[in-house]
Amino acid sequence: GAKSYSFMLRTKNPCGKVSNQLYLTMDDLADQFGIGTLRLTTRQTFQLHGVLKKDLKTVMRSIIRSMGSTLGACGDLNRNVLAPPAPLVRKDYLFAQKTAENIAALLTPQSGFYYDMWVDGEQIMTAEPPEVVKARNDNSHGTNFPDSPEPIYGTQFLPRKFKVAVTVPTDNSVDILTNDIGVVVVSDENGEPQGFNLYVGGGMGRTHRLETTFPRLGEQLGYVPKEDILYAVKAIVVTQRENGRRDDRKYSRMKYLISSWGIEKFRSVVEQYYGKKFEPFRQLPEWEFKSHLGWHEQGDGGLFCGLHVDNGRIAGKMKKTLREIIEKYNLNVRITPNQNIILCDIRKAWKRPITTALAQAGLLLPRYVDPLNITAMACPSLPLCPLAITEAERGIPDILKRIRAVFEKVGLKYNESVVIRVTGCPNGCARPYMAELGLVGDGPNSYQGFEKLQELVEKWEGPAKATARYNLKLFADKETYEAVDELAKLQNKNAHQLAIEVIRNFVASQQNGKGL
Ligand code: SF4
Repeated sequence: GAKSYSFMLRTKNPCGKVSNQLYLTMDDLADQFGIGTLRLTTRQTFQLHGVLKKDLKTVMRSIIRSMGSTLGACGDLNRNVLAPPAPLVRKDYLFAQKTAENIAALLTPQSGFYYDMWVDGEQIMTAEPPEVVKARNDNSHGTNFPDSPEPIYGTQFLPRKFKVAVTVPTDNSVDILTNDIGVVVVSDENGEPQGFNLYVGGGMGRTHRLETTFPRLGEQLGYVPKEDILYAVKAIVVTQRENGRRDDRKYSRMKYLISSWGIEKFRSVVEQYYGKKFEPFRQLPEWEFKSHLGWHEQGDGGLFCGLHVDNGRIAGKMKKTLREIIEKYNLNVRITPNQNIILCDIRKAWKRPITTALAQAGLLLPRYVDPLNITAMACPSLPLCPLAITEAERGIPDILKRIRAVFEKVGLKYNESVVIRVTGCPNGCARPYMAELGLVGDGPNSYQGFEKLQELVEKWEGPAKATARYNLKLFADKETYEAVDELAKLQNKNAHQLAIEVIRNFVASQQNGKGL
């Protein structure tokens, strides 16, 4: 298990934005004070494992001085605000990213304690946009604790962690419906942002064998004009602050409040704090999975290059090469919600030397990476996470190889991929309940299987249910391959559907028979 005297430290980077200076600082800190690995998280932040207590202050000071922060990366308050990481110079993307930064600022704890503790009261906070300060301090409709240094959080903060994501139509790189609040930019026909659709009540965590806990997709709350967004977000947070359950942490996320009240009642309570009615939800096109990998034009003459990082772990040769490139060309980077990294602001003339350097380190696509790996995610789990029940990151390469072997056996094409996510416990950090096949650890070598919660998107049909328990020790068995062969022959479906069914039937035939 994790040593009690070493710490895990997480940064806060709205939109996954990481300045050149912060990247270089984190890269150094990982070597000097961590375990030599930089980990990118599914909330677009860095995680440093193995920081010793005696080094904590030095590490925190270095991060804060590089204009990074760890403030609000853990605890019962707003976590890192997600936004699509692509540095596209497009009105909607820029507006989504700006909105994410404003929401992050709005919901940042205000007391100076944090900075007093780590940098001895030095004034290094940047100025906040006036609209953020105004919205935070506005006490109309009784949203604030007027005399508290924390006007929104008060002394008790929120019942539980709180997650917000912002995105643009079609780009679901942020898994928008898994957040407490999902904010979607709505633009007019000229591409000019006008307002936002809001989803509420998404969340992944659950507890095994407790049917009253469940992963849940966000539901449609309504539309707000752009100038009202901070007030609407604050009204939702305050509704959860005042009404979310504080007696039992298993039920304290906002999804349980919405689930017990129903969306109509929740909406009307939020409207009292907001002081207005929500407008009807605007019709938007379907969501797509966007990886932002490979080379792309930014739209301002520059280029960006998205690099796949297996399970977000940057170590060894990859770490060294990335550092060299980022340092030499003075690049800013972005962390994606799929634990990948984007190199930004690359001049056209640098494309060739950077491509060469990346290729030499084996970092550039197309290289031999199974498409299953590109869309897969696993949480850190054993040995790093104290909540872990079974393997995730260390187990997923093997799981993916076995699934690929099944695909080959039934004649599915190499480029056929399904989204597979694995976590070591039901907390669900790698959002397994949204995957086409999600494996959630519930015992040694044992996982509960979840399938295609995504299908429920846009037509709320209640919480996801586990469909099977898989015992992955049994995975590569000849008889089962033959059974799957038969199945494949009988099916007359498109390859993608078939791929999912093949896995489903394959693992179902491997079940230990206990069911749930
Ligand atoms: Fe730890 Fe569970 Fe999160 Fe994995 S899903 S990192 S085991 S808390």
